[in-house]
Amino acid sequence: MAVISKELFERACGDVPCSVIVHPWNESCLRASPETYYQTAIGSIKFYSIVYAAQLLMQTKKWKKKEFWKKMGEYYIRSTLLGAAVTGTYANMSCFLRWMLGNKFTFYTYNRIPFTLTGLYIYLEPPSRRSLIINLFFNLLAEYYLRSLERSGYLKITKAKQTLLFMIGSSLLFYLMRLEGDKEQRTPLFWLYTPEKVRRKEDGSKNVCPHEGPCHKFILKGYGTYFGIGLAISLARLIIPKIKTPIEAISSIRGKHFKMALFFGSYIGIYRAVVCYLCRKQGFDSALYALPAGYLAGLSSMFNSSLGLSIAVFSGALKLFSTILYEKKILPDFIPLPELLYCYCQGTLFHARFMDPDICPNYVFNLMKTVSNHRCEWVYENILDIIKNIQ
Ligand SMILES: [Zn+2]
Ligand SMILES: [Zn+2]
Repeated sequence: MAVISKELFERACGDVPCSVIVHPWNESCLRASPETYYQTAIGSIKFYSIVYAAQLLMQTKKWKKKEFWKKMGEYYIRSTLLGAAVTGTYANMSCFLRWMLGNKFTFYTYNRIPFTLTGLYIYLEPPSRRSLIINLFFNLLAEYYLRSLERSGYLKITKAKQTLLFMIGSSLLFYLMRLEGDKEQRTPLFWLYTPEKVRRKEDGSKNVCPHEGPCHKFILKGYGTYFGIGLAISLARLIIPKIKTPIEAISSIRGKHFKMALFFGSYIGIYRAVVCYLCRKQGFDSALYALPAGYLAGLSSMFNSSLGLSIAVFSGALKLFSTILYEKKILPDFIPLPELLYCYCQGTLFHARFMDPDICPNYVFNLMKTVSNHRCEWVYENILDIIKNIQ
């Protein structure tokens, strides 16, 4: 897979009919459309079933509430509509732009502009989920840009740098999360762990730490629980693709499958231990303890270092910081900055999936493959064939 430049794309695909590189399943734009929407609806249902199943498993405590199931059902339908609408409308728009430009495809009007515009469908998601998705796409974009800087030689990302980034990011994120602790409505954020609220002196408890009971129990329980979660995730990832032969899957468990468990466990364990130590030493609790605690806890990412994770922790901190800016009216409310940012991210990343696949994050590949019900691969193969023929 190589980069497809603007020049190459327009020379190869400029005059190709849209039935080859937008909707190979039907020659007519009009008649292809129902099939496009149908396939993306199927793909979307598949994709979000997995996403929502994972979310349900993480919230078993709420299962007894009828309201919770109603809400999840509604969100599931809205997400599925989002997936189908983005992809289906993209195809219509790409054909339309081609027709407007005198039956010619250009590098930007083929998929970048259509996918940027269909990003507005993000409004289909309810605000709380929307902000999580925007966060995810922002992380993916940052990953893509960092990789492209690395490729052009401006930057070298080593494991040590990734770990250091993660340490600084964790320290800021945990600090800002603890600052937010007393607020009624917290900024929605998807992170491994939500730190305990700061213990106030006035609340009359004998314990100076932000938890009940003895410190060692609190620390070990954190370590154990998160070790278990990490292990469960790694095993699920290992076993699900091999579900047909569970024996084979179980016999292939090796040391590397404990990496995530060690990372999760020590991340929470170290964080809690440092906070408890400082509380005991100073005799009172403070949000500031999260700074050294988060920093040292970040060391655990040596077990399972990843660029994506280091970016995620920073963008989480950035998000909490931007909430503070909105609250202090430094950022005006009427500009939907996050939604516009999402449109830009979607356009850039979906474009990169086709034109710059070497450094496009894997998540984007999987997302487009599943939601388009594998139609995306079909189209991409066609583009590669056309390019091969002219070279
Ligand atoms: Zn068409
Ligand atoms: Zn303690």
